[in-house]
Formats: sequence, structure tokens, C-alpha cells
Amino acid sequence: MKVCKGHLKVKTSIVLFASKTNSSERGLIFLDPELGNYTSTTHPSFKIEKGAKYIYTCPICHSQLNSAKYNHLVRIIMVDDAGKQYDIYFSEIGGEKCTFKIRGSKIEKQGPDTKKYDKYFEVPEEDRKYL
Ligand SMILES: [Zn+2]
Repeated sequence: MKVCKGHLKVKTSIVLFASKTNSSERGLIFLDPELGNYTSTTHPSFKIEKGAKYIYTCPICHSQLNSAKYNHLVRIIMVDDAGKQYDIYFSEIGGEKCTFKIRGSKIEKQGPDTKKYDKYFEVPEEDRKYL
């Protein structure tokens, strides 16, 4: 699967394209890159519906960002100010609050809904490279 390396961070937001499944509703979504901050901004004509499933794509290369391996999670790559790269996973389900920030074997998690997905990340170290 193609992995997007696009620079999705615009000023203080991560900008993604979201489209609701089984619906024509779609639009840009601006996420706060701070782990555990679930503020997101969309155009007033496009509202994220609680409990609905969204397909997230990169607005630059149109790669689909929903994880092929982890059902209901979306993966983006984030590079911090020091140039370190992290995998960020968040839920494709509207209103769910969970974020996983992963670098090597180090996992940070935030949000009350992470417990639904904890099982994905309890894997032996030697299998990590296949994730
Ligand atoms: Zn991209």
C-alpha cells in the first residue's frame, strides 16, 4: 500500500480530505496536531457526524489514509520540529476520541476511545516491521 509522505500540516493544522461512506458528503477537515486535542474544523457545509464512518485521503496525492491493517483507524505520518517521524493513528468514526502516536516501539496514546483499539498495538516487537 502506498504511504503518503505529503506535508499535510498547514500552519497549526493538519489538513485532510474526508468523505462520508455511503454519502456524497465530503470536504476538507483541519485537525489539531496536538496529541489529545480533538478540535477539528470543517467548512460549515460539511459536518462530521458522530458515529459515521469517513474515508480520509491526502488532499495532495489522494492516497487513502484509512489503515488497511487496522480496521477503523486512519494513519498519517507526522514529523516533529526535530525531524523525527511518527505514525499517528486516529479513528475514522466521527466523534471517537483516540490517538496513537508511534515511533519504533514507543507508543503514546490519548483519548477515552483508545481502549477499543489497544489490541492492535499489543504485538510482539518482531512483528512491528510489518505494521
Ligand atoms: Zn499525500
